[in-house]
Amino acid sequence: MRAKPNDVDLRERAAKVIPNGMFGHEATHLLPASFPQFFSRAKGAYIWDVDGNRYLDFMCAYGPNLLGYGDELIDAAATRQLALGDTMTGPGPVLVDLCETLVDMISHADWVMVCKNGTDATTMALTAARAQTGKRRVLVAEGAYHGAAPWCTPMPGGIVPEERAFISKYKYNDVASLEAAVAAAGDDLAAIFASPFKHDAFEDQALPDPAYARRARELCDQTGAMLIVDDVRAGFRLVRDCSWELVGVRPDLSSWGKSFANGHPISALLGSNSCRAGAEAIYATGSFWFSAVPMAAAIETLRILRESDYLERTIRLGERLREGLAAAAARHGFSLRQTGPVQMPQILFNDDPDFRIGFAWAEAMLERGVYVHPWHNMFLNGAMSETDIDFAIEAADGAFAQVREHVGELEPHATLMSLLGAH
Ligand code: PMP
Repeated sequence: MRAKPNDVDLRERAAKVIPNGMFGHEATHLLPASFPQFFSRAKGAYIWDVDGNRYLDFMCAYGPNLLGYGDELIDAAATRQLALGDTMTGPGPVLVDLCETLVDMISHADWVMVCKNGTDATTMALTAARAQTGKRRVLVAEGAYHGAAPWCTPMPGGIVPEERAFISKYKYNDVASLEAAVAAAGDDLAAIFASPFKHDAFEDQALPDPAYARRARELCDQTGAMLIVDDVRAGFRLVRDCSWELVGVRPDLSSWGKSFANGHPISALLGSNSCRAGAEAIYATGSFWFSAVPMAAAIETLRILRESDYLERTIRLGERLREGLAAAAARHGFSLRQTGPVQMPQILFNDDPDFRIGFAWAEAMLERGVYVHPWHNMFLNGAMSETDIDFAIEAADGAFAQVREHVGELEPHATLMSLLGAH
């Protein structure tokens, strides 16, 4: 394993001035020890850590990198807007241009409210639904991630139960459990949240059962509740529309973020007229929500999404990766569970209940210049090529061989074990 002195130095400095040395989903506490915490640059499909190591990046910044880091057309649109103005006393014309573009592209949407992070969009969805219906209870699938606000954060620190008093759980893809949760809500149901597909951490992914999606729509229609699809992670990675168009179901609200400006900071709540009054009734804003630069980047990103074959290409590349990894694993006596859409793969090992094999494999991949995640779904992007995918498969072959050799000596990751034990 190559030493990473600059990363070590930054971690030591960070430990003094940042709680835990790092916070949030990009902290490396729950990754193998050799994973770098800090990166100095990114271009196309690659990232460089602060010690100059280059990695083919299958995390894509946890989603925002959709077309390649530093896309020149998108960044030129952002730079042109920056020269005119960014955060001003009022929004620029790009706000209206962007909202019109999104309403044109997303079948269920009649209106848009822009914001900054995915959590802003999911939280506004919740409050708009309550304002629209005058009801309180909101159903969320067990294990689904919708952000870091008190009503949805997966970590209980600092949260009081009253903040979640009107949140109930159901099992994704399980019609009976959804019906039971709706029945238990009585006449107080404001909304049902659904991820486009089951993309929970630490687990196999599952595509949405159309019967479940249709039943969620019916139950909302019967009770007057709002159906919310949280497209923050999967948006524009499955289809150039709201992801549930794939199962023929239109929500009242959809939350978007991460990728639609290819990494420039912007998110959005999109809604149908069925929830316009609710959106008009809530107070939602932020100092940076109206900044024009990310809007210009979003408009250019959306143009490229409409006019290029990025989606079909990432699906082809995802298929190539899935087949190549399965074959390489089998050559070394491993069997993988590769689940979810090929362009958003979750890769777990059979017979690896405490993830020790997955961690060792991710570490061996990192050594070979490929950044994969041992328990979170990954992402392909439009800047990847067949050569990149073949490079990853070749690295995987070497990584499987290395893990096979040491499989008897592996230990589980201590911090991860204490976290999983705590749940
Ligand atoms: N919803 C989903 C499905 C997500 O994946 C995420 C982020 N991982 C969020 C909401 C929250 O987005 P953000 O981190 O931008 O607040």
